[in-house]
Amino acid sequence: KLHEQLQVLRGNIRVLARVRPPQPGARTAVAFPLEGLLTVSDPASGRAREFEFDAVFGPGADQAAVFEEARPLVRSCADGFNACIFAYGQTGSGKTHTMTGPPDAPGINTRALQELFRIAAEEPDRRWSFSVAVLEIYNEAVHDLLALAAAGYGGGGGGGDESERGGGGGGGSARTPRAPSGDVLARCTLDVSGLGAGEMPAGMDRVQGLVWRPVSTPEQAAAALREGGRARRTASTALNAASSRSHALLSVKVRALQDGAPVTTLMHLVDLAGSERIDKSEVTGEQLKEAQAINKSLSALGDVISALQRRTPHVPFRNSKLTQVLQDSLCGSSKVLLVCNLSPEAVSAGETLSSLNFASRAA
Ligand code: ADP
Ligand code: MG
Repeated sequence: KLHEQLQVLRGNIRVLARVRPPQPGARTAVAFPLEGLLTVSDPASGRAREFEFDAVFGPGADQAAVFEEARPLVRSCADGFNACIFAYGQTGSGKTHTMTGPPDAPGINTRALQELFRIAAEEPDRRWSFSVAVLEIYNEAVHDLLALAAAGYGGGGGGGDESERGGGGGGGSARTPRAPSGDVLARCTLDVSGLGAGEMPAGMDRVQGLVWRPVSTPEQAAAALREGGRARRTASTALNAASSRSHALLSVKVRALQDGAPVTTLMHLVDLAGSERIDKSEVTGEQLKEAQAINKSLSALGDVISALQRRTPHVPFRNSKLTQVLQDSLCGSSKVLLVCNLSPEAVSAGETLSSLNFASRAA
């Protein structure tokens, strides 16, 4: 019985590696000897190190092939399980390409939403409803980007009135995107300090005031993503932060009948902050604070996934805002997919090895 449970859990966390195409003319350090395997020549020792994952995608893999790994999680989300998909890796390794992608080759975010709408159309009796939230976590502060968009910083306008807002506020029409004032930004910063304190698992569904925008077509979902993206850029300007230094979360709330009873599940799609090690002796002030916040949240995520994988009784959710917000979707029967994005160039070999070590710990 325990063995069976273990099997179930192992099946709940999948880790894959994706290596983007090398820059023209660059010397590379990554090779693909066999399916599911990848080797990196270690710059320190000169020796090749081998890693194995549930799947390995080389530079030739297209967005559709990568999405096939995510498709089962979308299905289980429709069937009553929470799901989290993460893109992890150093800045420039292809995380945003994997999650968002260019318009002509959309990534997992768009495809996952399309897949949900496809399933809903196939099973109309289940009376589906979907809503999305778009968040950014920067320096351990959680910003609601759809709230920011509703306050006029998402461009495009409209839409804002349709959103339900737990704690009131919002509204206002779009103007030329200017950096929001500290005041507006503060109103779009969510309080998650109480999460995880009580008996109930913490999670995004319990974040007070978070904007959940109802979406009933792929186009409405795409519009919400665009607004969230624009709000993220204006927030970055106000915070003087590069987007690579924050975590971007797209959360989808799925409500549907299951065997006649209403069930709500969450799917979180996360473009993590760049994992690169910052030389602490070379940065001060804000950059140091940034580096420490990223370090803290990525290691908290690694600890949580590893604890789940090993079924240790204490799962350290409370160590970062990221893991607190995702708590109820990172436990028990939740499905997790970690995409470890990698740069193939020899100059990145050190960071590539460190990303692979993180991913191996989760696998
Ligand atoms: P990150 O989000 O990790 O910083 P990006 O997704 O922005 O990295 O990718 C860095 C650059 O590499 C971008 O110009 C992106 O278009 C390109 N790129 C990343 N992955 C791929 C891929 N699989 N195929 C083609 N180009 C890619
Ligand atoms: Mg990026």
